[in-house]
Amino acid sequence: MQKILFIDRDGTMVLEPDDYQVDALEKVEFYPQVFQYLSRIVTELDYTLVMVSNQDGLGTDSYPEETFWPAQRAILKAFANENIEFSEILIDRTFKHENAPTRKPNTGLLTHYLTGDYDLAGSFVIGDRLTDMELAKNLGSRGIWLRNDPALGADELAGEAAALEDVIALTTQSWADIYTFLRGQARGARVYRKTHETEIQVRLNLDGSGQYKHQTGIGFFDHMLDQLAKHAHCDLAVDVSGDLHIDEHHTIEDTALALGEAFGRAVGDKRGMERYGFYLLPMDDCLAQVAIDFGGRPWLVWDAEFCREKIGQFPTEMIYHFFKSFSDTARCNLNIQARGENEHHKVEAIFKAFARAIRMAVRRDPDSQDLPSTKGTL
Ligand SMILES: [Mg+2]
Repeated sequence: MQKILFIDRDGTMVLEPDDYQVDALEKVEFYPQVFQYLSRIVTELDYTLVMVSNQDGLGTDSYPEETFWPAQRAILKAFANENIEFSEILIDRTFKHENAPTRKPNTGLLTHYLTGDYDLAGSFVIGDRLTDMELAKNLGSRGIWLRNDPALGADELAGEAAALEDVIALTTQSWADIYTFLRGQARGARVYRKTHETEIQVRLNLDGSGQYKHQTGIGFFDHMLDQLAKHAHCDLAVDVSGDLHIDEHHTIEDTALALGEAFGRAVGDKRGMERYGFYLLPMDDCLAQVAIDFGGRPWLVWDAEFCREKIGQFPTEMIYHFFKSFSDTARCNLNIQARGENEHHKVEAIFKAFARAIRMAVRRDPDSQDLPSTKGTL
């Protein structure tokens, strides 16, 4: 399920002016480093961004629309220029004394996220007020508090500030800290790859539970990707629209490239991670052996032969090519051997052993920042 970052605007993306109303272009000053680190969050991590903002009295004489929108448009344009886009922008216009259900910390603007279709427990509210943290509590999410004024919003809480202690996952003044914190959460990546031959979307959560949803247009390939997710214990969704009217080559090759990129990105800086993994997997008459090293360099040692031309619509010559392409973009070493008679078993055993080896290699000690290399970089 999709995780969301519900992000406050004023005091979080732009600094609060003295009068707490960003109603002129000259009052727009961006929060330090917000572009740099929000851009990395968007690029490297698997969150959807939703802006949630209270704009007290917007549309009234005290805050006319025509003073709000030029600043709002300029802010959104500046973020869009850095590929930071919001899937939804939700603005409450009421005053505090109205206690409207749509005004943070209430969830009236966000009821469509409360349907059970979103991973709210894995989502965060990022904001500078205690009311943002109480919104996180009301959503069943956690809060990231940009605490530049500890009392901000305290007078508008429905409950006690102390009750928010368990909700606030991070208190900081820095977007760099927010990025590092989120990076330490479930490791994931989204990859979108489009050429004249294929269009591919990959969504990966390395720290998932083995959930999968694949649509490549090649049934046996979907089955193998299911094995990968299940046995690597990661959540994986691969959606491919390829030129299968020509043949299967581009679809399989490009999917492997996108998949490798997703794994390469998801392992990140590899601190605290095992790095190496291996598995010996029997499947009836077959035995497959896969070893992997997420060491930052591509290499493939291959020792497996196939007699059948195809398994379903999957050409057996593309099996080597799949792992070679994966190795290239994940920048990992792969050493793969397989023996046996039944070709379906042999391929499936390779994919399962590959998945199990990945599962071992990406395992991490959450308390360790140790880099598994004496070089100092991977
Ligand atoms: Mg704010």
